[in-house]
Amino acid sequence: MTSSNPLRNDELQAYWMPFTPNKAFKAKPRLLESAAGLYFTTDDGRQVIDGSSGLWCSALGHGHPKVTEAIREQAGKLDYSTAFGFGHRPAFELANVVADVMPGSLDHVFFTNSGSESVDTALKIAIAYHRLKGDASRTRLIGRFNGYHGVGFGGISVGGMVNNRKFFGSLLPGVDHMPFPYDPATMAFTNGQPETGAAYADELENLVKLHDASTIAAVIVEPVVGSAGVFIPPIGYLERLREITAKHGILLIFDEVITAFGRLGYASAAERFKVEPDIITTAKAINNGTVPMGAVIVQKRIYDTFMDETKGGVELFHGYTYSAHPLAVAAALATQKVFKEEGVYENVQTLEPHFGAAAHGLKTAKHVTDIRNLGFMSAFTVAQRDGVLGARANDVFLKAFEMGLKVRLSGDHIAIAPPLVSDKAHIDRIFNLFAETLAAVD
Ligand code: PMP
Repeated sequence: MTSSNPLRNDELQAYWMPFTPNKAFKAKPRLLESAAGLYFTTDDGRQVIDGSSGLWCSALGHGHPKVTEAIREQAGKLDYSTAFGFGHRPAFELANVVADVMPGSLDHVFFTNSGSESVDTALKIAIAYHRLKGDASRTRLIGRFNGYHGVGFGGISVGGMVNNRKFFGSLLPGVDHMPFPYDPATMAFTNGQPETGAAYADELENLVKLHDASTIAAVIVEPVVGSAGVFIPPIGYLERLREITAKHGILLIFDEVITAFGRLGYASAAERFKVEPDIITTAKAINNGTVPMGAVIVQKRIYDTFMDETKGGVELFHGYTYSAHPLAVAAALATQKVFKEEGVYENVQTLEPHFGAAAHGLKTAKHVTDIRNLGFMSAFTVAQRDGVLGARANDVFLKAFEMGLKVRLSGDHIAIAPPLVSDKAHIDRIFNLFAETLAAVD
């Protein structure tokens, strides 16, 4: 089908699109017109099933009536409440709701507008926390190769994906990267967590030896790697990171922008893996991706340090014009309520085995060289064509859309992570369409 009202070439030029090859896109635009439930409708009238939950954020699918209504109602009531020196009641309510579902003493919440802002906020909190405690030399940060922590200067400094870092100068000083805990020789095609590989965490001890713990503020990792292509932590790996960071007084930050709020069947990866970090960064599914929002959740002792009169009661000099924006908050309160009322996390827990089996049913599909999955997250590595990174995976991505399936492309990997409300039939439809797509690509 062709659109009855396509954008002309001159109309396409002004918009500089994010994370998109602009020229290729504008030569052949893919436009989404509307969305309901698990389906997008394109401008040429086709139905496309959302196999990626938007960008990992549309946990409830699209246009959930309770979320839509909450936003509408809030817009007519209080459309803005300055974050500085004023508050509004629902923001306090949401902070309590979020704190309640986070593990252990992670019970204070700082609101942001995106994952990138959550990450940079967390890094700043970590450094300032040590300084307030009299450890001003603890400024070094440790991330991981292949880590994705958004696009702020802090996030790309601790992040480890080359394309996000190159072109942007010298970045933050004093940053190291731990190895990526993945070995295709032993871990390819693992359904769930790999059994070996916990020892990758021991590299942190080497970095501590090199720099001395007294210079290190924080370690940040995605508990399950998302943007680099869904890589699942080996059993015992996160536990080991927690042990080493605790031993050396280093804060552990879990970047849960993708994993928080149900992706793994729990409110957080921290809960699923039973590893409590000092700080958790979130965004995306917190309010079903409907209004930009993120949140940083910190342990009580961190918040208390900032409030401590004996330390000067230094408040965090940090925030955003739109922190805890009323529309984002209203959407989040409604989303969090639906998670509970509709048993959304339980749905992921129940269907995870079906999801994993459906993903691994494509083991022998053409071009597939690896499959990884946990909860409602999965990724397929697609064999390169003529040694060109991502070329064939890009063809798969485009072909899938043509065949009525939206997936997420990342280098040679295709991620499939449908809304958390998907049932068995949705899951089967998504993986069947993906199998047909793979078969149709040379
Ligand atoms: N951290 C992680 C782990 C992410 O996956 C992302 C986004 N995919 C971000 C940070 C950045 O979030 P945003 O795009 O909302 O800035």
